[in-house]
Amino acid sequence: ADMDVDTIWMDGEFLDWDDAQVHVLSHGLHYGTGVFEGVRCYDTERGPAIFRWEEHLDRFYASGKPYGLEIEHSREELTEATTELIRRQDLESCYIRPLAFYGYDSLGVSPGNCPTRTMIACWPWGAYLGDEALEDGVDVMVSSWRKHASSQIPTNAKATGPYINSLLAGEEARSNGYVEAILLNKEGNVAEGPGENIFMVNDGEIYTPGLAESILDGITRRTAIQLARELGYTVHDEATISRGQLYTADELFFTGTAAEVTPIRSVDDNAIGEGTRGSVTEDVQSAFFDLVERRVDDHDDWFLYVEE
Ligand code: PMP
Repeated sequence: ADMDVDTIWMDGEFLDWDDAQVHVLSHGLHYGTGVFEGVRCYDTERGPAIFRWEEHLDRFYASGKPYGLEIEHSREELTEATTELIRRQDLESCYIRPLAFYGYDSLGVSPGNCPTRTMIACWPWGAYLGDEALEDGVDVMVSSWRKHASSQIPTNAKATGPYINSLLAGEEARSNGYVEAILLNKEGNVAEGPGENIFMVNDGEIYTPGLAESILDGITRRTAIQLARELGYTVHDEATISRGQLYTADELFFTGTAAEVTPIRSVDDNAIGEGTRGSVTEDVQSAFFDLVERRVDDHDDWFLYVEE
């Protein structure tokens, strides 16, 4: 185990690592019936600041809806639990993982009377795709696995079970020597990465697949769209992107809470642009890090300051 976590909040209580346990007959373990979030808290001059917490909470509750999974804790309770975890463990920056899932009552596919269990853990987590990746970009491959269609599993809900699709694509890429995968959707258009949204730059304009392309409505995606527009770029946020367009793009980059803004330098061994981070990507990336590390004071309402 490589996680530095002392305290975990579970079902209303702060527990020591050893006590945060569930039964092996939990419904969520058998059928992937859980929903989760990934949130980042950044180290700023005003102490730890959670980025877009309210939007993550919105998505957390909404993700349960298709599954009838009702999180039995209020926004205030989840907020207090999270800020308290950060304070108690003296975290300056961290990744925050809220999870809600069906626990044990019966083991039919129908969750019946299974209770909804909820937990939150926080731990320090650096650059998801590596520190060099932020500057140099990553080598990716188009996966032979397709992203499940939103007509099969709601892709706008961040449920646990569907991540086996992300695992297949990501592991295929890694076993072939790539850092990450790009998934095409059922129609064969570009969808997203296993844990990232994707953006393309051509002739100075920015394109990203629309929400109807079986993608997650990423909060970093929304942020990148807004920051890019504020920088003066034209952003097409309902684009349909073909596989072929990936190879001839001027620039490509991933966005995600974990991946932040990561340039893509090659796809299937074809260099993208010069095979290095492009200038538009760098602009959006700098704006993103200036924002989250609070070197600028705009969008202060996107931050929850833990110590205030
Ligand atoms: N797509 C998928 C499949 C993801 O798992 C994630 C990570 N949550 C994203 C996109 C990016 O979403 P966000 O920016 O909200 O982290």
